Amino acid sequence: MPLVNPKNMLLAAREGGYCVGAFNIVDLLSLEAVVAAAEAKRAPVMLQTSSGVIKKFGVRKLAAMAQWVAGNSPVPVALHLDHGTDVKVLSEAIQAGYSSVMIDASEHPFEKNVAITQGVVEEAHAAGVAVEGEIGRVVGVEDDIVVHQDDAIYTTPEEALEFQRRTGVDFLAAAIGTAHGFYKVEPKLNIDTLRKIREQAAFPLVVHGGTGLPFEVVKTLVQAGAAKMNVSTQIKKTYIDGLYDYISAKRTEYDIIKVLASAKTGLITMIGEYIEVLGGAGKAG
Ligand SMILES: [Zn+2]
Repeated sequence: MPLVNPKNMLLAAREGGYCVGAFNIVDLLSLEAVVAAAEAKRAPVMLQTSSGVIKKFGVRKLAAMAQWVAGNSPVPVALHLDHGTDVKVLSEAIQAGYSSVMIDASEHPFEKNVAITQGVVEEAHAAGVAVEGEIGRVVGVEDDIVVHQDDAIYTTPEEALEFQRRTGVDFLAAAIGTAHGFYKVEPKLNIDTLRKIREQAAFPLVVHGGTGLPFEVVKTLVQAGAAKMNVSTQIKKTYIDGLYDYISAKRTEYDIIKVLASAKTGLITMIGEYIEVLGGAGKAG
């Protein structure tokens, strides 16, 4: 089916008490692996592209690849721009056919974050595209965005509600202690805050930093109200390990198709596990 606007996908997850996996793709192989895993689990899914991947391919090529793969798939697939900080790039993505964008103006003070986000929401909604905003700051490294532990800002329920009310974002990333990249120390998660926002808000909540959390913790976050969870670093790890393991075992085979197929199989298995833990299996409708 064509790429879908994920707003209703995430509202259904919120109501149903499960979570949609949002996986950062880096090329066509990883894109196909995400969709294949979603098909195997009959799950709705979100593809995400970071600013680094957009710099490499451009939004038009990424949108064309996603449209082609989603167009041949029976499960609902959304294409989302992850952590957009440049409104010009967001405009290009909206025009290229992305069905969802994230405006991350969380480095700015609250009022400026609201103002920037409002502008993006206006443009995106006019084109039928969903918008994710961020309030508070998620620590770690996400391409060009580096947030140190000391600069982490946890979201409060009051701020989250006011931010969504004033901007009209369709879903909101709440900083509750998860981090981008691998966890170097055990994260201190504010699960109660997530639960409180979930109780008071009518919109879906997003948790970033899904890589490296024990599956029991992931399940707790879903129960507390995460309707979208981002998984990026684990994609890179499984992909690179898959290539490395195959090449190490068959150093002189020189069959690139087999090397790539092996890495892809590993990705499909890993992504399928996440979808199961998030509760998304069988929810494709
Ligand atoms: Zn993130």
